[in-house]
Amino acid sequence: MFTHDFKEQPYWWDRSASPTEQDTELPKKVDVLIIGAGYTGLHAAIQTARGSRKTLVIDAEQAGWGCSTRNGGQVSTSIKPSFFELEKKYGKDMAFAIHTEGKNSLQFTGDFIRDEGLDCSYDVVGRFHAAHNSAQYEKLAKATEHQVPGLENGAYMIPRLEQHSELGTNAYFGGAIFPKHASVDPAAYHKGILGKALEAGANIISNCAAENIDRNKNGFSVKTSKGIVHADKVIIATNGYTGSLTPRLQRRVIPIGSYVIATEPVGKNLMDQLMPKNRIVSDTRKVVYYYRPSPDRSRIIFGGRVSLGESNPRLSGPKLHNSLCHIFPELENTKISHSWMGYVAFTFDTLMHIGVDDGLYYAMGYCGSGVGMAGYLGMKIGQQALGLEQGQTSFNEIKFQTRPLYTGKPWFLAPSVMYYRCIDSLNI
Ligand SMILES: Cc1cc2nc3c(=O)[nH]c(=O)nc-3n(C[C@H](O)[C@H](O)[C@H](O)COP(=O)(O)OP(=O)(O)OC[C@H]3O[C@@H](n4cnc5c(N)ncnc54)[C@H](O)[C@@H]3O)c2cc1C
Repeated sequence: MFTHDFKEQPYWWDRSASPTEQDTELPKKVDVLIIGAGYTGLHAAIQTARGSRKTLVIDAEQAGWGCSTRNGGQVSTSIKPSFFELEKKYGKDMAFAIHTEGKNSLQFTGDFIRDEGLDCSYDVVGRFHAAHNSAQYEKLAKATEHQVPGLENGAYMIPRLEQHSELGTNAYFGGAIFPKHASVDPAAYHKGILGKALEAGANIISNCAAENIDRNKNGFSVKTSKGIVHADKVIIATNGYTGSLTPRLQRRVIPIGSYVIATEPVGKNLMDQLMPKNRIVSDTRKVVYYYRPSPDRSRIIFGGRVSLGESNPRLSGPKLHNSLCHIFPELENTKISHSWMGYVAFTFDTLMHIGVDDGLYYAMGYCGSGVGMAGYLGMKIGQQALGLEQGQTSFNEIKFQTRPLYTGKPWFLAPSVMYYRCIDSLNI
């Protein structure tokens, strides 16, 4: 099942060396302190440092240790609720504005990588969104046919009989192609933006946990594991790792583990048979599987959720492999070389959120789709901290909800996963 050199860590970490450690002392005073050095924090830092603010980014672990180097590297428009769901809640204009933010985030990510010359295997390969039953195929077909004017995404359907041109499996009932979605090497992308933040003049300190934030008349005093730093402005960029440092935000995000494996190299002919078009792939299940070839097309990177409660990569690896073999029985004897997990941040309305809470700037809650959106909202929250009008987004106008009795520990996770699994097993 596991290769002899199996690693319980992201495959991406083999491809990108750890980001440069800076041996700098904690400064006493900065203009902007950013807590969390993933895509959100670093894109915010690029803005504030380029805006001539003395910027410090700290991370409790190695910069990038969170989701930003653990994800599946699938870049999409990231908005989970449909236009019509949003229209019912917020009206037509807001639904349009939110979906436009999704399109903007995808565009921003591609443009940034190209314009800044980042070397991170970004490729607009398109997504095959597979229907796991016939009812879901019909639903996808309807959505593809009736797109909202101004929000067209170029999607088109692939019927089950033609499925093998996209994916070498009989496990699905056809699916939709989203041609603008892209793949990226997530750790290489992180390394690239970290370099840009340093180049812009930001200071980045790893293994420096923020432990307490005190508000005073001059701004904030933040106690960290390396001493106290004073800051005029503080940006919280902790997403699925948001903890008791910011209890109000902790009550608004739901950390949920997502699990991934990488296979050993599978050989060119088999890869060409299983994933001929190099697409990123997801399916219509509520408890979704997502997968893709590695950037060199040697391995399959396969992710999803395999247990009701949280698990660990040694246990989740074989379960994911089992699910992978339901789709591609040809991989039964292919071993797992890497298995890992990370915490995504869900929210009660399945939308991401950005704004200022109790004087603290924040952007988080990407609901498992943050490769594009985290960078985009990181850039926006950096602009907001600079006081720039263009930093405003439609998410700023939406209440960041919590629920009574929820303190940050999702006790309802196991029953919810069970419920969604039941839904997935029905042809609805
Ligand atoms: C397994 C997995 C697969 C995924 N796949 C995809 C995908 O294919 N496509 C997609 O769009 N999205 C995907 N995502 C989601 C995406 O990776 C995230 O939305 C995105 O990386 C969030 O970036 P971030 O910078 O906000 O948070 P993170 O990268 O998680 O960074 C948060 C950081 O905050 C730090 N921190 C927390 N508390 C403190 C503190 N008190 N002091 C200092 N530092 C602190 C943490 O150490 C962490 O490094 C996936 C996520 C996971 C876990």
